[in-house]
Amino acid sequence: MDTETIKLALKTVKFPGFSRDIISFGLVREVETTDGNVLVGVEITTGDPSVPEKIAADIKQVVGALNGVKDVKVRMEISQPKQQPGAPGAAGEGKLQASTTMQKVKYAIAVASGKGGVGKSTVTVNLACALQKILEERGKAGVGIMDCDIYGPSVPLMLGAAGRPEIENDLILPVENFGVKTMSMGFLVDDDTPVVWRGPMIMKTIQQFAQNVNWGELEILVVDLPPGTGDAQLSLVQTIPLDGAVIVTTPQPAAYNVARRGARMFEKVNVPLLGVVENMSYLETPDGERQALFGEGGGTMTAKSLETPLLGQVPIDIAIREGCDNGIPIVISDPESAATEVFTLVAQQILDALSKK
Ligand code: ADP
Repeated sequence: MDTETIKLALKTVKFPGFSRDIISFGLVREVETTDGNVLVGVEITTGDPSVPEKIAADIKQVVGALNGVKDVKVRMEISQPKQQPGAPGAAGEGKLQASTTMQKVKYAIAVASGKGGVGKSTVTVNLACALQKILEERGKAGVGIMDCDIYGPSVPLMLGAAGRPEIENDLILPVENFGVKTMSMGFLVDDDTPVVWRGPMIMKTIQQFAQNVNWGELEILVVDLPPGTGDAQLSLVQTIPLDGAVIVTTPQPAAYNVARRGARMFEKVNVPLLGVVENMSYLETPDGERQALFGEGGGTMTAKSLETPLLGQVPIDIAIREGCDNGIPIVISDPESAATEVFTLVAQQILDALSKK
């Protein structure tokens, strides 16, 4: 009996009242097995005592039914949801409360980078458009972007999603362009908002985005994280139920250490890595020669050391930057470009990986 088989069985245990399972919620913290004796460690935030009881009983039932299992013990760590100050009775923070307006979101993935300026938002927006095109062809529900890059919320500009979100039945409606729905701090603050206010606003805002935004039915929600691997990012990835993470890096070999820190953050919270996207990999001259302006190997080294695929290498292209500035991502404006081909390939690999989950 190996831990992978046990985890697979645990994927059939749903969180009471939700369509998602305890593994994809990231609640299973440990699985140990010795001579047919299995120990499952679970950590949950809930104020309802019947929830841990039901989960423990379900775990015992599905794991106990596996061949070769003699005994199943469940170790539960339960924490109470925190009340939001000034809002008695309001839903507390925590992964499970966050998911109530995200119930019809099938998959959520994060796009992260160790530092700013590597093209994380550019990759997020183009990837979302590529995913949207593929899903539309397959007749599936759409794509959303949750722009959590509170220090530089550039998604609305890059996606050409102008205007202010409307409110309907006390829920915020995301703004849509090219079939991609987006919600961003950029809609709510203007460029003059002091950056020092933004730090403390991160968790509050993200909770708002998860709890009070009517995402509707989405096949996939792409979460653009703030750059870096600090506490704010960690709290964020704990708040949103993520199915996977994509790391964006540049080709400099030194970028690899920074990217690895990001990956470790996801490991801590049990979010699987889907792969690495190397951005600004090369510049192609008019006679077809590829120049490695920012060095070589960063993406390959990062992917190899994290044992995750290198999903693609995005070229440096003025049209990518212009697309960002004009609000028409290159995947939309130039479907034949080399960059569009890479983003489409990355999108396909992500959908494949998610469908095998
Ligand atoms: P981050 O989100 O990591 O801070 P951005 O996505 O905002 O980075 O990108 C920073 C700048 O670099 C933007 O002006 C963007 O248009 C440009 N850029 C990103 N990737 C490319 C690329 N492959 N080719 C040309 N310009 C790019």
